[in-house]
Amino acid sequence: MTLVPMNLSDQIRDIPDFPKPGIVFKDISPLLANREALTEAIRVMAEPYRANPPEAVLAVEARGFLFAVPLALELGCGVVLVRKPGKLPAATRSVEYALEYGNDMLEMHADALTPGQKVLIVDDVLATGGTVAACADLARNAGAEVTAAAFLIELTFLNGRDKLGDLPVTAALTY
Ligand code: AMP
Repeated sequence: MTLVPMNLSDQIRDIPDFPKPGIVFKDISPLLANREALTEAIRVMAEPYRANPPEAVLAVEARGFLFAVPLALELGCGVVLVRKPGKLPAATRSVEYALEYGNDMLEMHADALTPGQKVLIVDDVLATGGTVAACADLARNAGAEVTAAAFLIELTFLNGRDKLGDLPVTAALTY
């Protein structure tokens, strides 16, 4: 049997003008629906962190959740959820961040991270970096140490890394 290397980018679909004109949405539905592609995506995303695994994965709502859980299991740790306001049941801490127009907010359970805990942030797409920068603030405000951020896709032309200072960033696919 010949093993053909899986081309992950074949499993990502471009949807022009979604959710608004001028945005090309990277639709990961084909990748999620394909067991081989999903397995390969998790393997590639986990690779840079195997030698020095995090103590927790911070999962960004909503598509970040899909990658955070299998990655955490691969790396031998648990998952902490970062959610939109009003979704988490226990006491929360929150952070506000700027969008193109207006502000948005993210929340995490107040007791979810311990001081000094080494945390890897996980999301599907790094675009402008605003979401991940806010997640990093949230974790650092809890005293945790954010060691890196891992993505399935990085849209390099949006320079999201510029918002993340010297935080190491990895992505399985770049555009
Ligand atoms: P940002 O804060 O600009 O880095 O945006 C990151 C969040 O928005 C991620 O959680 C993505 O799910 C989503 N996102 C932004 N741009 C895109 C895009 N072109 N395709 C798919 N998802 C995107």
